[in-house]
Amino acid sequence: MKDKNQKAETTYIKALLPLHMPGPLTYIWPYDKEPPKRGTRLLLPLKNRQIIGISWGIDDSPKEGIRYREVAKVLDETPLLTEKLTRFIAWASSYYFYPLGQAMGEALPSELISARAKGAKRIARAKAGPGRSRLELLAWEEARITRFTPEQDRAISVISKDISSRAFSPILLFGVTGSGKTAVYIEACKSALKEGRGCLVMVPEIAMTAQLASRFTKAFGENVAILHSGLTPAQRRDQWWRLRMGKCKVALGTRSAIFCPINDLGLIVVDEEHDPSYKQEERFRYNARDLAVMRAKMEGATVVLGSGTPSVASFFNAKSGRYRLLELTQRPSGAVLPAVEIVDRRGRKGKGPAANKKERDEPKWLSQELRNAVEETLSRGEQVLLFLNRRGLATYVFCPACGYVFKCDECDVILTWHRRNRAVFRKKVEEDSGRAGPGLLACHYCGKALPALPVCPKCKNPTVKTSGFGTEKVAEDLVQAFAGITVARMDRDTLTSRKKMEGVLRAFRSGRIDCLVGTQMVTKGHDFPNLTLVGVIWADMSLNVPEFNASERTFHILSQVAGRAGRAKKPGRVLIQTYMPSHYSIQKAATHDFEGFYLREVELREKLGYPPFSRLINLKFSGRKKSNVELAAEKTLKFLKGLSGSGSSFSILGPVPCPKGRIKSRYRYQLLLKGKLSQIRNLTAAVDKASQSLLPGGVRLEIDVDPINFM
Ligand code: ADP
Ligand code: ZN
Repeated sequence: MKDKNQKAETTYIKALLPLHMPGPLTYIWPYDKEPPKRGTRLLLPLKNRQIIGISWGIDDSPKEGIRYREVAKVLDETPLLTEKLTRFIAWASSYYFYPLGQAMGEALPSELISARAKGAKRIARAKAGPGRSRLELLAWEEARITRFTPEQDRAISVISKDISSRAFSPILLFGVTGSGKTAVYIEACKSALKEGRGCLVMVPEIAMTAQLASRFTKAFGENVAILHSGLTPAQRRDQWWRLRMGKCKVALGTRSAIFCPINDLGLIVVDEEHDPSYKQEERFRYNARDLAVMRAKMEGATVVLGSGTPSVASFFNAKSGRYRLLELTQRPSGAVLPAVEIVDRRGRKGKGPAANKKERDEPKWLSQELRNAVEETLSRGEQVLLFLNRRGLATYVFCPACGYVFKCDECDVILTWHRRNRAVFRKKVEEDSGRAGPGLLACHYCGKALPALPVCPKCKNPTVKTSGFGTEKVAEDLVQAFAGITVARMDRDTLTSRKKMEGVLRAFRSGRIDCLVGTQMVTKGHDFPNLTLVGVIWADMSLNVPEFNASERTFHILSQVAGRAGRAKKPGRVLIQTYMPSHYSIQKAATHDFEGFYLREVELREKLGYPPFSRLINLKFSGRKKSNVELAAEKTLKFLKGLSGSGSSFSILGPVPCPKGRIKSRYRYQLLLKGKLSQIRNLTAAVDKASQSLLPGGVRLEIDVDPINFM
């Protein structure tokens, strides 16, 4: 009798764990007080360890006959996640077909949640709430804005009105680089704060947060929280809690900031909204730009997507009236857009015996036009930026005797030769006794590396050859080709920390560096007053990939990099070297003609039925046994065909092997669904549900909703 009573009185609660499982688990609530609200962190026993989970409400129908375990500890007095935020994360989890507990785990910084015993122990000991860590902020000197342009005024007043209306309002702010968008963002934030509402400002990369952060800190002081992966764990935890406790109301951060807690969110800004870095390309494959629109909708907030070269998708939405379009057409600083010249590289034979001595000594990536422009720029005491979206010294290493090509033995990818920075690669190889050795042959996908340059493993020929070039080669060549030049490189190999990156940016800004060579990192957001020449070394690189959005990506990269030249009073000049001089991506970027590019691109997309005229979901299969991966993809195809009675409003493409057919020893296949979102979502949900029976052992299915990368 007594036993029965006790059973009736026991309270059970549900908790989400940051692990691959479909839903919450049930635990016994062992305390006398009320169980915690949804969104509170708990320390929970799991098998023989303890991990951190999120409370998910009361379980009023626990299953009979199961011996549930007890909650070990409650970590938060105030739930870490607000009710609104939990609902938003739940929406994202279901939209992207990613398990809710895991989505929670990825939405929160790893200093606040962990499925690992050690991490959980550390977190459980830490105090919940803001600590005392501080951020060091860079100060960029900047002229005060005395008067806004009429276009800025209008944008500010429209956005402010929308914020105070408390209704969902999506806006596309279309303005070339330097047109004063950032100034508009800052004013819009002020309006939101005046209404007592919070703001979230997102930028694509850390490289950009430093500069923007100093402008925002100048405007809002202690009211700004900064969130990106370059912070220390303690800093990141503190920034989160400061927002959660309402100690600051403006958050500035990269992609993952979309999940940060802000009370009464009134404004979300997505700067450079076209940037592919907003898409996370692993595990939880969300797009923070798209989520920003959804979060704003759920919060009754205004969302401002800003860009000088909007994404085709957002511009399409603006043209069709789903977003309001605001334009900034002038540059208030008076700077004119740089003159862009296309340098046709076709018909150049390279360094054959016929070439004269001068040509033979010239680096093969350097045209006469670019050489002259660099010389002229340097002689005026101005600076040069060279862009090439590929790292390394040589991008192709082969044996001239037997034709062997060096590839990663775990990935289907050719190896790149690097001279320095061995620390960034995964496998350390024996040091060559401190000499400046010839470096490493490294895999850019898994980081595995061999000492360079090795003997051919097939025919034992000791002198293998190299070909192709990356940023490392360009930087080395420059020092040879231009006497007395100071060169710095900015790519993932050199910028292993935020400090290093800021050091390079500061040195370039102050004029201690003549020429900066870099990958995509250099193209974003920086403002260098004395930079007047930008050279694009090989523009076609991003065009020659089998992806429906290759032209869009190329146009964006070229426009972005061109925008770096001549941002201040001095006029800028841009040289684009290409073998495809008449391609519209290159032509339209050269004439700063976004709308011209857009019209060509949507025409093609419509003809082929690609987004925005359809939606895509990519089903990606991978595993160590090729035959099993193939089988899984084929079975899924058959399953889908069996489901779809009226298959007119969608199509299935594939399955085909991915262009990178194997990565980290896993074979990869993909099957692309194209059509109406509701329909392809239903199909995907069915596959997801049946995945147990569709996937042979060892095969993994990853679902990529609204994919942009098909490699
Ligand atoms: P974007 O974000 O569109 O690239 P910014 O807001 O960074 O543009 O503005 C570019 C430059 O012009 C900055 O140096 C900024 O201080 C300046 N600027 C912006 N608005 C004005 C204005 N109304 N009057 C004078 N200078 C301005
Ligand atoms: Zn590899």
